[in-house]
Amino acid sequence: MTVAVVGGGISGLSAAYELSKGGREVILLERSARPGGVILTDEVQGFLIEGGPDCLYTEKPWAIELAKELGLSQELIPPREDRRGTFILWRRRLHRLPDGFLLLVPTDLRSFLRTGLLSPWGKMRAMLEPFMPFRGQREDESVAEFVLRRLGREILERIADPLIGGIYGGDPEKLSAEAIIPRFRELERRNRSLMRGLSKGIPGRRGPSLPFLSFRKGMYQLVEGLLGALPAEGILLEHGVEAIEPTKDGFLLYGSSWRIEAEKVILAIPSYEASRLLRGPFPDLSGLLSRIRFVSSVPLSMAFREGDVGGIEGHGFVVPRKEGLRIRAVSFSSEKFPARAPEGTVLLRVFLGGAGDEEVLELDDREILELSLRELSTVLTVKAPPFLWRLYRWPMRMVHMAVGHKGLVSEIRARVGKIPGLYIAGSSYDGIGIGDCVRSGREAARDAMS
Ligand SMILES: Cc1cc2nc3c(=O)[nH]c(=O)nc-3n(C[C@H](O)[C@H](O)[C@H](O)COP(=O)(O)OP(=O)(O)OC[C@H]3O[C@@H](n4cnc5c(N)ncnc54)[C@H](O)[C@@H]3O)c2cc1C
Repeated sequence: MTVAVVGGGISGLSAAYELSKGGREVILLERSARPGGVILTDEVQGFLIEGGPDCLYTEKPWAIELAKELGLSQELIPPREDRRGTFILWRRRLHRLPDGFLLLVPTDLRSFLRTGLLSPWGKMRAMLEPFMPFRGQREDESVAEFVLRRLGREILERIADPLIGGIYGGDPEKLSAEAIIPRFRELERRNRSLMRGLSKGIPGRRGPSLPFLSFRKGMYQLVEGLLGALPAEGILLEHGVEAIEPTKDGFLLYGSSWRIEAEKVILAIPSYEASRLLRGPFPDLSGLLSRIRFVSSVPLSMAFREGDVGGIEGHGFVVPRKEGLRIRAVSFSSEKFPARAPEGTVLLRVFLGGAGDEEVLELDDREILELSLRELSTVLTVKAPPFLWRLYRWPMRMVHMAVGHKGLVSEIRARVGKIPGLYIAGSSYDGIGIGDCVRSGREAARDAMS
């Protein structure tokens, strides 16, 4: 039985690995000349520059488990402990996220009361959370509605907006609370209050001591590990699938100048691509897939001499939209992980784009650099421009899980389930993190083998 996996990002590679481990014949079809999708690590003049993701979240352990299975345990590295802390920009000053803050909810009262990030009224409103009414939760709601309801406007604008917006490149007014903060919804449902619930622990939390990990030589090590475990002849690069046709025994997949037959197909590509391929044979499914929206992400890495940039604190900072800047987050890459930059230099990464600023893609590289430096200079002391920089453009590569996302995905999965031999995987459906993608690829493969 041949299984074709379409898409050679982390989801497709994980699916192919699972199939190959199960003794199946796999053909992985990837449109570009490089496997890995948005996972990309560049080594330039002694710098280790991540073009896409830079870490694995330990809360989603599936990628870490896979790395261990691939013999990469020794390559996993923790963040630098000496530079810990996430900062939030507010009125052009950096404020440390108070200790004990679990994404949205304060758990360390003393540290919370000391922060200058919130006004006394904002703190008081948040502390009233246990007394806010619980009206039951049948329908999904936006992240903004949820936070506003439970914790008030200041936590929404100054904490939830930059943190969630920073991770998802999204707009909290539109993002789904059910898809993005399910544990907080669950806490509320069970305890009628987040704070009361948190005093008992987060449901499903596995209690890791480190929030995230990376690889000694960058995230591409995970891709290389997977490639090393797959038969090379089954990986076909520069093989973009243009059409799929169901046949009596499976499917025919068409490229520009080739045709491949497979009994089963796993689509590990963004949902809008899956929608395009399925429009002819399965128009209803294609219509549902086309309803999932995506936003862009534009990371820019810059290298400075140590004395040329001042004011760096912690691992980085995020920027609330109320600050009126186009940079959404800044990661101090060389402070976050060891061995990212040569001695005497600093590596920073600025994130632009996302919901509300797709126009940034219309600017040329130098305009984006200049804009980023201008905005960065309002927060940090920048005495000289970077001596090295790399810009990456990821248009429509971050899924924007809007209100109702989970319901839509259930409908999609139900339709897919009615088409024998067809499976879907990837960041479009059940989570955007690399861990989620690994899990979705491996699950699709297991389904295809059962
Ligand atoms: C800038 C950025 C930073 C991120 N940071 C983090 C992070 O720190 N930690 C984390 O956990 N997650 C992070 N994420 C999210 C995570 O990296 C992605 O969700 C995940 O890598 C997506 O993997 P994927 O395989 O589902 O999709 P992709 O990586 O998009 O791969 C899809 C592949 O399919 C191919 N393809 C598309 N259409 C076709 C076709 N018709 N035929 C053949 N091939 C096709 C594409 O060329 C691509 O290689 C980040 C994402 C971005 C963009």
